[in-house]
Amino acid sequence: MFAIERYNKAQSVEDAVKLLVADSEAKLIAGGTDVLIRLHEGSSDFRSLVDINGLAVLKEITEEPDGTVRIGSLATFSEIMDSDVVNKRVPVIAEAAATVGGPQLRNTATMGGNICAGVPCADSAGALLVLFIVVQLIVRPLFARNDRLQKQLRARTLALSELQKMRTEYENLQAATLSSSARFDQREKDFTLYKFLNRLAGETGIKENIKSMKPTTTEQKDSRYKISRVDMRLESITPAQLTDYLHRVETSANMVSIKKMSVTKKEDNEGLLTAILQVETLET
Ligand SMILES: Cc1cc2nc3c(=O)[nH]c(=O)nc-3n(C[C@H](O)[C@H](O)[C@H](O)COP(=O)(O)OP(=O)(O)OC[C@H]3O[C@@H](n4cnc5c(N)ncnc54)[C@H](O)[C@@H]3O)c2cc1C
Repeated sequence: MFAIERYNKAQSVEDAVKLLVADSEAKLIAGGTDVLIRLHEGSSDFRSLVDINGLAVLKEITEEPDGTVRIGSLATFSEIMDSDVVNKRVPVIAEAAATVGGPQLRNTATMGGNICAGVPCADSAGALLVLFIVVQLIVRPLFARNDRLQKQLRARTLALSELQKMRTEYENLQAATLSSSARFDQREKDFTLYKFLNRLAGETGIKENIKSMKPTTTEQKDSRYKISRVDMRLESITPAQLTDYLHRVETSANMVSIKKMSVTKKEDNEGLLTAILQVETLET
């Protein structure tokens, strides 16, 4: 059994910081590929978890007008590999990302988790370290000597950068739309969120803990997709079962996400939880 006592899903970066400050034992969980293995091995280092998976703002990969490339700590290795910005500006990072594990792992594991896990094999950390040394020891001093020239160049290229940024954003948007539709097409023909959640509950052994499951759908204006939502209540569930279930929901290829969650501890039953979840996806 996993030694998890407290689990909180952060709703924002500020929320995550508050949760970490409030509990000195709290540790972040992102993709969970390291944390869940450590828990499985019996580690007690992750008794209290703050789940940051799903904070879209930390997934962003962007290029600033001055050429700085920012990779959000929640960007997965697949997203980094496929990023136009990374491939264009720092291809060594895309190459390093492509060497990590297999496709399934790359779809889940994040670069932030890789760097912070402190594992000796951290592939992205090596590439980032080399880049840091090159920038600090070679590029920065060179730029300092050519500061005036750089300022002139920057002024002239600012407008061009803005245009390039807009084009990159447009291309990213197109790519994201295409990859989302491809993933929708890969779903089982008779996929419904309700059936999916029910099947996962069976696979994780918590079917009997489901006290209610209420599906709703909302049509969207000018879209072929409707929002499909399931509100569910799980009772007398262990923290390990809950984490396992949440992890499988969020890492499935079916583009399903947990929108709201509240977890309470049962007073009469030590260690058991009641969880109320709202899970959402898009369906045609
Ligand atoms: C089958 C398999 C193959 C693997 N192959 C490779 C490989 O080839 N190369 C390689 O380098 N690694 C490999 N790994 C290791 C692992 O996948 C990576 O370290 C992964 O990137 C961790 O990311 P995560 O999001 O899953 O982190 P998590 O497991 O969620 O977290 C890992 C650690 O980082 C902390 N953390 C997570 N996000 C943040 C953040 N934003 N800020 C601060 N701390 C944070 C967590 O608290 C935890 O201590 C492999 C793992 C598995 C299971």
